[in-house]
Amino acid sequence: MRTWERTVSRGLHALGLESIRNKLLAFAVLATLIPSLSTVWVSYVHSQRSLTEKITGEQHSLSAQAARELDLWLKERLYELRVFASSYEVSENLERMPRTSKAGAPVRQGPAYGRLRDYLNSVRDRFADYLELMVIDPDARIVANTSNAGAAQAGAVALPPDWLRVLKTDNAFVGEPYRDSIARQPAMIVAVPIYPSNGRLIGALTAKLNLRAVQQISRRFAAGGLGGMLVVTADGTLLAGSGSGDAAPMTAKLPPESVRLLFDRAGSAVRYRGLEGEEAVGTLERVPRLSWAVVAAIPADMAYRQAARLRNLTVLIVAALLLGVGLLAYLLGVLIVRPLDRLTTGAAKVAAGDLAVDLPVVSGGEVGSLTEVFNHMVTRLRDGRRELERLSVTDDLTGLYNRRYLLDALANEIRRSRRLEHRCALLMADIDHFKEYNDALGHLAGDEMLIKVARALRDSTREVDCVVRYGGEEFVVLLPETDADQAVETAERIRARVAAEDLAGGSITLSVGIAEFPTHGDSPESMIAAADGALYRAKREGRDRVVRAGGPAKRASTP
Ligand code: GH3
Ligand code: MG
Ligand code: MG
Repeated sequence: MRTWERTVSRGLHALGLESIRNKLLAFAVLATLIPSLSTVWVSYVHSQRSLTEKITGEQHSLSAQAARELDLWLKERLYELRVFASSYEVSENLERMPRTSKAGAPVRQGPAYGRLRDYLNSVRDRFADYLELMVIDPDARIVANTSNAGAAQAGAVALPPDWLRVLKTDNAFVGEPYRDSIARQPAMIVAVPIYPSNGRLIGALTAKLNLRAVQQISRRFAAGGLGGMLVVTADGTLLAGSGSGDAAPMTAKLPPESVRLLFDRAGSAVRYRGLEGEEAVGTLERVPRLSWAVVAAIPADMAYRQAARLRNLTVLIVAALLLGVGLLAYLLGVLIVRPLDRLTTGAAKVAAGDLAVDLPVVSGGEVGSLTEVFNHMVTRLRDGRRELERLSVTDDLTGLYNRRYLLDALANEIRRSRRLEHRCALLMADIDHFKEYNDALGHLAGDEMLIKVARALRDSTREVDCVVRYGGEEFVVLLPETDADQAVETAERIRARVAAEDLAGGSITLSVGIAEFPTHGDSPESMIAAADGALYRAKREGRDRVVRAGGPAKRASTP
């Protein structure tokens, strides 16, 4: 065996894959799993990607429109405020009002103050976006406002320190959204400068805007898509959301990780954790003039439902495929292994000496031909053994049985005759003066004569009689169901037949001794001894005759 074969078979042994069935099964499973799983993976990734692209397209368009709309809303509010701020009612009345009281606070009385406040009230009542309108001085102190049915409200508006600088340079100030404690809703402050005819900044028209419009815009655009729409500040605080969830504006906040992800990849769909920790896919768009952003969002499971369905379907198909192929491999394994098992058992039987094995050839191919070759080999072995057995009991010159066979056959016949209380006879014949014949005509002629005598013996006896070459030119015939008289008759027939043989050295004679069971012997040895004794007597008494054991010599017909 080569080194690589040894290494591989050691590896297979370690994996428990030595049997053909397991190897086939492992191969089938791998051959199914590797291509199908890689196909599933590739198509899943592909469908995920194309879905993301599709979602990005839809969400980007919605969130961009919503962001533009928000920007427009703010622009309109600022434009309106500038129109009011430049009106005569605001600047004239403000100029006419006494600057400050002795304590330094704005003087909130007098006809000019009254007119200004009436104007502010009338504007607030006509426009739905204003929670409150105020005129403040450059120190952010409230000069006049719309609040609470004329109840004079003193104090300052909380504004960042640089608000005045921003107001002058941008011609507007836009504050951060906050939760208004009086109105109990999200609000934000915007302000525009008030310049009278002399051009010096004397204050700012400031509005507390409610964010209902923001809510409406988010709702309107959410209705155009599958998912929801959120408006959040730069740190992820919710301003408005289209969803009906529990998330409350100004309180609910996106996780920082989600905020970073959404802002970093603004304009494309990303997977993130939502306000309540749920998986979502969303696309963020910044609102130009504000630090806010709009997020078009959809729950992740809904977004990738199609991809997940595809994945589940393919996994199901792969599983079914695996089952089918596994079953097929198992059947194939059985088909190969069954005949191999039969071959192994057959070979073991043959090795144990049982040659009566004949395996069924159920399949074609290699295993089928192996089975055929095996059967052929067993048949040859069987024939060979039969031939050996035949040779071991056959005399090769004459083809008669040999002495070994006689001993067995005689023992069997005596047993049988004893059991059935029948007779049987043994006939022992010897060629007279065979040595002389041999000497005169040569060994080969002698052999020829032996063959002829053998044929004569066979021709003159029955099928059931057992004709044996007992020694050199000595023959024995075992005659079942035969008494001595019948045996003598047979012997005479033999002698006559031999005498009639046409031989190169003239005619030939036999001397024959006869013994009968149980009269002259009751065992193989005693029967042979009795027949031999009778033969001896036949020789002594002049040859060319038949003598029965225990009786007087009986002269056969003269040659
Ligand atoms: P008898 O009449 O007393 O039987 O005399 P015989 O010569 O036949 O007997 P003997 O036992 O003296 O001689 C037997 C001879 O048979 C001796 C041997 O050469 C011969 N013989 C034995 N086996 C064979 C054989 O296979 N072929 C041949 N050609 N001759 C054989
Ligand atoms: Mg002889
Ligand atoms: Mg002899």
